[in-house]
Amino acid sequence: MTGPAPDTITVNGHRLWQSLMDLAEIGAYDDEPTGLRGVNRQALTDADADAAGRRRVMAWMEQAGLTVRIDRMGNIYGRREGTDPTAAPVLTGSHIDSVATAGAFDGCLGVLGGIEVVRTLDERGVSTRRPIEIGVFTEEEGVRFGIDMLGSAVAAGRLSLEYAHALTDRDGRTLGGELARTGFHGPADVRLDPPHAYVECHIEQGVPSSPRAVSRSVSSPAYRASPGRRSPSTAAPPTPAPPRPGCAPTQGSPPPGSPSGYGPWSTRARTANCAPPSAM
Ligand SMILES: [Zn+2]
Repeated sequence: MTGPAPDTITVNGHRLWQSLMDLAEIGAYDDEPTGLRGVNRQALTDADADAAGRRRVMAWMEQAGLTVRIDRMGNIYGRREGTDPTAAPVLTGSHIDSVATAGAFDGCLGVLGGIEVVRTLDERGVSTRRPIEIGVFTEEEGVRFGIDMLGSAVAAGRLSLEYAHALTDRDGRTLGGELARTGFHGPADVRLDPPHAYVECHIEQGVPSSPRAVSRSVSSPAYRASPGRRSPSTAAPPTPAPPRPGCAPTQGSPPPGSPSGYGPWSTRARTANCAPPSAM
């Protein structure tokens, strides 16, 4: 058999790529040692970074016809109704907050990929029995308030909202206060009803074996959240990664011009933007 199966629907890769590149410009910085461009969009930073990225994603969700809600942890959900109002949703998504020296894809692919799926279903006139929800979880990187996968941990009930709100950054600013300051302390219930399924396309940062190779994984942060598992204060020191064409190998230190006082910096090795694939 040649070509896709009749029931296979292909998303618009160019549109997805453009969304990824547009989002990557929010919080972008130039990595001086390599001359490459990276992303510094740490959780709940001000209008120049995370909050602006959140607003952009919410606008894309609304343009895609999704009903958007924000919960008391600042997690954002966009919902496309299904034909069965009693059916639990299929949840997808990830995060758009970044480490200090990030690339364009970690987390963002899961969020924007979900939006692209909805765009494609709409264009094809496809309805689903179950609702589809796209989640954007707060402080999943954990670089600012010290616990990664935080938003999903609270949504899943593994950490309390009060505990999360009381976490402080190195300047003593609380997460709860920063949610209020940036306008993302939403009214929606933070506890998620169990979805029918959760699927996430997630690219972690690292050095793949070739410029075109990316890692793809299916993970369930909302149900694997492990408070403090990668706590920066206890994590092993990063293993320096060899440089490769198209990617800036960077370590967990703040880039020049990054906002002071956010920390501690994640110790995971990571890369800045990589060259786009030649075909999608
Ligand atoms: Zn991630």
